[in-house]
Amino acid sequence: MFEKIKYLFRKYALLGGNVYCNICERKYLTFLPSGDELKAHSKCPGCSSIDRHRQLYSLTTAFIKEKRSKINLLHIAPQHALATRYIKMPLVNYTAIDKFEKGYKYPHYVKQMDIGNLQFDENSFDLLICSHVLEHVIDDTLALQNFMRVLKPGGVGFLVVPYFSNLTKTYEDLNANSAETRLLLYGQHDHVRKYGCDFINKLSAIGWVAEMIDFSKFYSETECIKLGYLNAEPIFKVTKPNN
Ligand SMILES: [Zn+2]
Repeated sequence: MFEKIKYLFRKYALLGGNVYCNICERKYLTFLPSGDELKAHSKCPGCSSIDRHRQLYSLTTAFIKEKRSKINLLHIAPQHALATRYIKMPLVNYTAIDKFEKGYKYPHYVKQMDIGNLQFDENSFDLLICSHVLEHVIDDTLALQNFMRVLKPGGVGFLVVPYFSNLTKTYEDLNANSAETRLLLYGQHDHVRKYGCDFINKLSAIGWVAEMIDFSKFYSETECIKLGYLNAEPIFKVTKPNN
């Protein structure tokens, strides 16, 4: 109850400033800190989206508008703020999946499925979103191959992973099986690697046409402050070749 009151106070007390959330389409006085490390100017007071959600929304809505016809969207481990928008879009057939973990509640629109065993026909989807999932998956190559299989030729995926530009090579130690060791090595107890600059090569080797999108190159600092893109993470756009 207290949390709900706090949320409503925050949402309405901060309305009406100069920063803009493209997901809930409202202006606020400021974005809020988010995450364990309290990244400043990140979380929307209204829809609770963070930087990468707003960036993904910007990219995916541009894709949907460009298509101008009904598309099939596969959203992996969906972010609620995004899911609720896609579900309402007349041009989107929305499918959300997640690997259900004990102790968590999942919204009614999410089906239980593992990205290591995607139970969809070949060439089923036009658009795929997978944000902060692959770093939890031991066989990420298999998952990426599965994404390729279920996307239609010309279909596009937007992928986000914890990306360390100071690492030339992705770091993983397959012997690191305990939560303590993983926390020490990767900064989170349930991560299995830290992605480095070779991630894009991995995507290309699987057969994707891959591109790294860095929002800080397309938006001025003023725009990044306004849209809450200050803590921009790179987003990888992958396209399934037509042949
Ligand atoms: Zn919002």
